[in-house]
Formats: sequence, C-alpha cells, structure tokens
Amino acid sequence: MKGLIVGVANDQSLAWGVAKALKARGVDLAITYQNAKAEPHVRPLAEEIGADIIMPLDVSKPEEMSALFGCIKQKWGKLDFMLHAVAFAPRGDLHGRVVDSSPEGFAMAMDISCHSLIRMVREAEPLMEGSGSIVTLTFYGSEKVVPCYGIMGPVKAALESSVRYLAAELGEKGIRVNALSAGPVRTRAASGLAGLDRLIDDALTVSPIKELVTNEQVGNMAAFLMSPEAKYVTGQTIYVDSGYSIAA
Ligand code: NAD
Repeated sequence: MKGLIVGVANDQSLAWGVAKALKARGVDLAITYQNAKAEPHVRPLAEEIGADIIMPLDVSKPEEMSALFGCIKQKWGKLDFMLHAVAFAPRGDLHGRVVDSSPEGFAMAMDISCHSLIRMVREAEPLMEGSGSIVTLTFYGSEKVVPCYGIMGPVKAALESSVRYLAAELGEKGIRVNALSAGPVRTRAASGLAGLDRLIDDALTVSPIKELVTNEQVGNMAAFLMSPEAKYVTGQTIYVDSGYSIAA
C-alpha cells in the first residue's frame, strides 16, 4: 500500500502522527516539505521512517504539485491513501475580526487551506483506480464560533463541505474522502492562534475525557479511516477531540 502525507513540519505535526501510524501498518510513504526552510526539519523525519519519496510541495505552486504526482505515478503507478494537513492564513487576517478580513487574506487562506485539497484530489483520482482513501484535517471552529479562530472558521467550514462534495463525486470510483476534526494540539500552526492557551484549558476542563489529544491518536484515527474497516465511511467529519464537541 502506498500513501502520500502532506503537512509534516516537525515531530509535533499532526501529519507526523499519521505518517507514523501508516508506517506501523506497513504502508510505503511519500512525504513532502513545504520549502527549503522546512526541508532540514522534515527530511530527517522522512528518512527515519524510510519514506520512498521525499519531495517539496508548496500547494500554491502548480509545477511542484505536477512534479510530485508525476513522481508518484512513475515510481508507484498508484496511490492508496492521501493525507492533506495544510492550513495557512495571513497573520493580520487571522488575528483580526472576520468582519475586517481582507479579500486577499481570505482568498489566500481559502486557497492554501481548502482549494489545495481539491487540487490534490484531482491529481490523486487517476492514481486511485478502484479504491482510495483521502483524509484532511479540520477543527470545531468550522461549526461553532471559537474565540480567536477568526477566518479559519469559515475556511474550515468550506473544507468540510468540499469533503462532502468530493466524497459524493468520487464514491462510485471507490474513493473515500473524510475530514478528521482534532482537538487542540500544540503544533507550529496552532501556535499562530492568539487563543491557543484558552483552547487547551477548555479542552482539559470541558471535554468528557479530560485529556489533550495527541498526534499519535490523530494518526490512529486517520489510519482507521484509510483502512478497509472504514470501507463505508465517506464524506464525514469525524471528531478526535476527547468529546469536546458534545459538551454544552
Ligand atoms: P503544523 O504546523 O505542524 O502543520 C501545518 C502544515 O501546513 C505545515 O507542514 C506547513 O508546511 C503546511 N503548509 C502551510 N502552507 C503550506 C503551503 N502553501 N504548501 C504546503 N504546505 C503548507 O500544524 P498542525 O496543527 O499539525 O496542522 C495540520 C492541520 O491540522 C491543519 O490543517 C490544521 O488546521 C489542522 N488542525 C490542527 C489542530 C491543532 O490544534 N494543532 C486542530 C485541528 C486541526
């Protein structure tokens, strides 16, 4: 089985938890790094896990997207699993009110964090002949107003909706698409949120299981969603959040 992991920045990344979980299940991996600055942090991890393919991918660069999928096609001829764990919003727009967000900042957040999934799925479709499973990562701020999540709320809502449409369009081909909604984890991306400490405090006090989610647990759920055991699960947003989302 062959899997592509996009979104490892370091060993705290949720995508790294998924990479480890898939490796433990015998999956051959392709792992990308965003740019030359990220490479020294990602390459040693990818090598440690014995990744077959280690390549750059900035999702805003179509030529890098083509090169990556071209390499996967040439080397593997197919793809079974794909993880999209990518999010970005310009700091000024992320920290301000949604009301004040700039069209450019909103569009960029939407492009990098949502439409990039659509582009990746389009590239993966011909490589997933007969079956495939795609997982993206989302957050509860898509559904309810979470203080300080700002424009990422509407962006993640669009991501979850895109998952449903992609799942509907690709289901007949045996390709499943799901979103995994993780509780707050201290990662590089999350540290850009002004209210992260409060989110973490809330998660520890309000969630039924009063423990913080780990990237290992996110990895285990992603691996389950990618496995044949989840054959009839598609278009869903599955929570790995210690139950936080059910609390009033
Ligand atoms: P992270 O910083 O480890 O990962 C974010 C990744 O996005 C990085 O690897 C970064 O290189 C990548 N990225 C950003 N812009 C990119 C671009 N233009 N091209 C390619 N890659 C780009 O943080 P994380 O928390 O592991 O984030 C992964 C995903 O999980 C994100 O979608 C995030 O919204 C989601 N998520 C995180 C949490 C949390 O609390 N950490 C909770 C729920 C969902």
